[in-house]
Amino acid sequence: MIFILFGPPGAGKGTQATLLANKLNIPHLSTGDILRNKLSDKDDLSIELKKIMDSGNLVSDDILNRIIINRLKLSDCKKGFVLDGYPRTLNQKDFLVHFIDSINLSIKSIIELFVSEEIIIQRIQSRLKKENRDDDKNDIIKTRIEKYNKETRPLSDYFLEHYSDNYCKVNGNQDIEKIHNDIIKIIQKWLFSVIILCFLAWLIYLLSCIHPPFILI
Ligand code: ADP
Repeated sequence: MIFILFGPPGAGKGTQATLLANKLNIPHLSTGDILRNKLSDKDDLSIELKKIMDSGNLVSDDILNRIIINRLKLSDCKKGFVLDGYPRTLNQKDFLVHFIDSINLSIKSIIELFVSEEIIIQRIQSRLKKENRDDDKNDIIKTRIEKYNKETRPLSDYFLEHYSDNYCKVNGNQDIEKIHNDIIKIIQKWLFSVIILCFLAWLIYLLSCIHPPFILI
């Protein structure tokens, strides 16, 4: 079970990914959190990362792909995971799809949270007061939104084309509980159709065992 939460900064991906991961009892992997944890290392890499993140730019694909592969190889990811903040570029998407194929897992659901720019700015401003993240400052928000539109939004075309059955858009302008309920409804609907398909496959198999010519009909 692999779930990807996708959307602009401030869309509420982190909040929804935590709720979803808790509900499904699988890990929540936030590349933003992983990177922020790295900053406490105080080595050359962390100084470089802080500079990039505080400017609102994206960290290089090489670093991100290395970080994510090391995390995905840990045993708690075997049952599945919720990705938040990754992939964010076409290169990261290629890397992830290739890795997932190689371990015979599949992407179950990609959920895009769409939010108006006005709400994004309001939410990030209120997060700045609570968490004091340097990249939440007003002038940096604009760069992050620009980066999202240029580098990350094109991924939605790819997902729409290749994962159209598993790709859903959810209104992220609503309150936390309502968004969570919408996400759960989508996943339940998807699970229900998987159960029906498995049941039909089992029924066909059973009928073909009882009455072999059935498969020729
Ligand atoms: P948000 O989704 O609100 O922008 P995050 O906490 O997910 O916040 O990310 C914070 C910063 O971490 C980003 O602005 C970027 O610099 C860096 N980052 C996180 N994920 C990635 C990624 N997949 N690729 C490149 N940079 C990333």
